[in-house]
Amino acid sequence: MSAKRPRPRLDAANRPFWTGGSEGRLNIVKCDDCGQFTHPPRQFCRHCQSENAAPFAVAGTGVIDTMTVNHQPWLPGLEVPFVIARVKLDDAPGVYLTTNIVGSPVEAVEIDDKVKVVFEEQDGIWFPLFEKVA
Ligand SMILES: [Zn+2]
Repeated sequence: MSAKRPRPRLDAANRPFWTGGSEGRLNIVKCDDCGQFTHPPRQFCRHCQSENAAPFAVAGTGVIDTMTVNHQPWLPGLEVPFVIARVKLDDAPGVYLTTNIVGSPVEAVEIDDKVKVVFEEQDGIWFPLFEKVA
């Protein structure tokens, strides 16, 4: 994928998620009161409404929960085909990231594959993508 990704609008709640890759960190909002995770990022816990919720660096590993192969060049310069997947994070129960699987031919990517995060930086945004764990 060499085309530009749609740029998210940064705010106080989601900035740690979109810029954590600059330090190699995948930051997911975790509640200090109930211990559960909230994604997409918010400044309060979606489980108990506590405001004691803050970005927490998870391990960045997970498994492919669902996936599809995109063959449509939606944007000029977009290289197809590529995998759009929903990744279930290992250590953030209930959190699923919709992302791309990179670094493998699309036919080598399957549901339940183990993956780990890799970051692709564009204009100050570190997009969390995933690649298969060998
Ligand atoms: Zn909570």
